[in-house]
Amino acid sequence: MSHPLSQIASQAPFVARHVGPRDDEIAKMLDAVGYESLDALVAAAVPDAIRSIGALDLPPASTEIEALHELRALSRRNQRHTQMIGLGYYDTVTPPVVVRRVLESPAWYTAYTPYQPEISQGRLEALLNFQTMVSDLVGLPTANASLLDEATAAAEAMTLMRRSVRGTTANTVVVDADCLPQTIAVIQTRAEPLGIDVVVADLDGGLPDGDLFGVVVQYPGASGRVRDVRPVIEAAHERGALVAVAADLLALTLLTPPGEQGADVVVGSSQRFGVPLGYGGPHAGYMAVRAGLERGLPGRLVGVSKDASGAQAYRLALQTREQHIRREKATSNICTAQVLLAVVASMYAVWHGPDGLREIAQRVHRHATGLAAALRHGGVEVVHDAFFDTVLARVPGRAEAVVADAADLGVNLGLAGTDLVRVACDEVTTDGDVARVLRAFGVTVDPAPADDGDHDAVPAGLRRSSGYLRHPVFNTHRSETSMLRYLRRLADKDYALDRGMIPLGSCTMKLNAATEMEPITWPGFAGIHPFAPVEQAEGYLALIRQLEGWLATITGYDAVSIQPNAGSQGELAGLLAIRAYHRAGGDDQRDVCLIPSSAHGTNAASAVMAGMRVVVVAAADDGTVDLDDLRAKLDEHRDRLAAIMITYPSTHGVYEEGVTEIARLVHTAGGQVYVDGANLNALVGLAKPGEFGADVSHLNLHKTFCIPHGGGGPGVGPIGVRAHLTPFLPNHPLLPEAGPATGVGPIAAAPFGSASILPIPWAYIRMMGPGGLKLATQTAVLNANYVAARLRDHFPVLYTGRGGLVAHECIVDLRPLTKASGITVDDVAKRLIDYGFHAPTMSFPVAGTLMIEPTESEDKGELDRFCDAMIAIRAEADRVASGEWPADDNPLVNAPHPATTLVAEWAHPYSREEAVFASRSAREDKYWPPVGRIDGAYGDRHLVCACPPPEAFEH
Ligand SMILES: *Cc1c(COP(=O)(O)O)cnc(C)c1O
Repeated sequence: MSHPLSQIASQAPFVARHVGPRDDEIAKMLDAVGYESLDALVAAAVPDAIRSIGALDLPPASTEIEALHELRALSRRNQRHTQMIGLGYYDTVTPPVVVRRVLESPAWYTAYTPYQPEISQGRLEALLNFQTMVSDLVGLPTANASLLDEATAAAEAMTLMRRSVRGTTANTVVVDADCLPQTIAVIQTRAEPLGIDVVVADLDGGLPDGDLFGVVVQYPGASGRVRDVRPVIEAAHERGALVAVAADLLALTLLTPPGEQGADVVVGSSQRFGVPLGYGGPHAGYMAVRAGLERGLPGRLVGVSKDASGAQAYRLALQTREQHIRREKATSNICTAQVLLAVVASMYAVWHGPDGLREIAQRVHRHATGLAAALRHGGVEVVHDAFFDTVLARVPGRAEAVVADAADLGVNLGLAGTDLVRVACDEVTTDGDVARVLRAFGVTVDPAPADDGDHDAVPAGLRRSSGYLRHPVFNTHRSETSMLRYLRRLADKDYALDRGMIPLGSCTMKLNAATEMEPITWPGFAGIHPFAPVEQAEGYLALIRQLEGWLATITGYDAVSIQPNAGSQGELAGLLAIRAYHRAGGDDQRDVCLIPSSAHGTNAASAVMAGMRVVVVAAADDGTVDLDDLRAKLDEHRDRLAAIMITYPSTHGVYEEGVTEIARLVHTAGGQVYVDGANLNALVGLAKPGEFGADVSHLNLHKTFCIPHGGGGPGVGPIGVRAHLTPFLPNHPLLPEAGPATGVGPIAAAPFGSASILPIPWAYIRMMGPGGLKLATQTAVLNANYVAARLRDHFPVLYTGRGGLVAHECIVDLRPLTKASGITVDDVAKRLIDYGFHAPTMSFPVAGTLMIEPTESEDKGELDRFCDAMIAIRAEADRVASGEWPADDNPLVNAPHPATTLVAEWAHPYSREEAVFASRSAREDKYWPPVGRIDGAYGDRHLVCACPPPEAFEH
């Protein structure tokens, strides 16, 4: 017997922690699949044409201790100054109870997007709290469950306004010049391919002339100024345009909320609600809309509905807006959002409550007004009279010197031109910080004596009079004991990787190791402002360059950009690079993007955002791209072909033989080849898209490279490109190091996207080494084929490739079973909950099927437990098909069974025992779903997307 695991683990001990099966299990599974060795299995499954030769050229594996040592050294190369730069990023204190019980708790961070709401009630409640918090603070009725950051939220607001505006064909959006610079830049990047004109204007003189469909204003502005936005909103509405206000949530505890001023949309960031700076991300952006626009909201929206017994239950609402169903007509391409960070921000509000938040805001405001008073006293001009936390000081010709002097004192200020310095106060600002700032300005006045004049720099007409966060959840958990128990109670409702496998196809729910996670809360990574001088972020830069290099090696590309903060954003970045490449070559007319019918929904939505027309290529019966149809489409669109977007291995979980031929045909027709690399877990160490014909790919570091899914985000979706596309990678207006000057502009608000979670993939690659990475891929393929082999006699496996093998996932077909018994995919998915499992991916890419991706991290015991459950469920369905159990009353259609069903009257033809203890493992380690099957349609008809009002809790 060979010992592939122990062999590699002798050099790379972490591999034995990351990979689930032991050598004897690998041998048994190989036996069941019919191969001698992992090498033989992979040689049979992976087409020779795409196989890369030799080991990956990566450093040999380190131990866990060594990786942490190296990361510690990198984090020490970052210098942590007092951050007073502002521009949308503020230092904050994550309540320690939230650090321990959420940010560092696998019960929260290893969960998946709550598509199976019955096992996600905890995080759905937390997200509903987030929506309620945003909705209350901004003064609009409906908020979504997070967007990727403030800048992309503003860009989403732009397209929402264009879709929703009535009675105008205007193509212009007006953007307040006092918007955050990164927001303006992201809006410009997104507007260009859509043919939207962006007019950046100082709105003091009113709106510029000409037709417009929307206006974006910042409140307070980037300069700190608080302006009354009512006149702008009224003027815009008079001209038939909509208005989006980018607002600061903390400021809104003191300022009249934009919703009360007539805004149609409010967007922003919830970062300063307890989410570390992290060199720019991840943070949760938000969007709220007025009544009538909710169906056009991008992103996830949590709503209240009811379960089979009529009990209140939460689930994702209005799913039909999303790209999984609407594809190129979707409201947005956003899929992975920022759930974990939205949960942290919501818990910050739960912890502090309305009074606590107001006190924090008042303290911040007092520091700012004290600073302004002292500056004035010392003869420095303060530009704006009305501000919340940010003071803009005019120091003619001295701005750079003041900023440099402050840096010498350990404080980062914002340079806003040769004469202007911006000083932003935040939750952690102290009197000592203010004193240091004054010294940098050369002002010797003590801020305390200046503390006498009018300390309120919020104009009387803009003081908030309405209440907020009155819901009990924001007014109950003041003691740490109460908070601790609330967090535990919510976590206990949910099924995450810390309970059992989550075999979601296309999602790669593998181990998120503790060692990988540890560094992200270290101050050396967490405390860096994204616009800090680059010399202060040396450690980050070194880590980023090294990671980009490793990813280039793994994918065979020439360059990598880690800026995109989700797979969907990587798709957009990659397609924009293709578009820019064609334009640079004078091929402006190339705008057709071919997409196979089986593609992930984000692909089509991203293509539209990149200004392309989607043309669908059919799938052949075996699930591969239909080459005849491809040739026909190429002939038809040859002159206008921009790209083909394919997934490899295909979304059918198969290594397609034809991929090199597809690439050749498309290149011959003048198109570029985009390979969606979300399934890279089937390729690492075996094949490189950059070498088998692709020009660009995005990878999902939150799938293949161990960033946890966080219950629906964060993610990182870097792109790799061949050399000819490198001039068109994303860049950033505030940091030249972020990308080429010739680039397409920023895709995300921060120069390096979600920088603070990059230590996770770094540590994974570092600890696995070339041998470990390859073994992980081989084991993932083995596990998928083992599951396929065990289930094959009970459910047909829909697609296979060479040797009857699948890649890293397999699709089992439930349609024959549905036909025979009436039992649907839904019924099986919900019944799996009774057996203690999270369902596989449902009805993607083929309706009526389940797509199972076990990953390399699951051992044979867990795979067998899952297969046993599936087989038992199949036997249950047979009892329905045979008529033994009625079609409308059996354990499948009634699943899942919460504990409450046991004490209700029991008139079912199966026993209580069969309902909840259907297997031994279900009995020994019972997961109790907190609710029964949820009626999604009911919730969509009666849309409620905030915590039910306090009256509902009064008895
Ligand atoms: C997950 C996935 C995406 C989308 O990635 P997000 O990070 O959720 O935006 C795109 N394509 C495929 C094939 C995927 O599996």
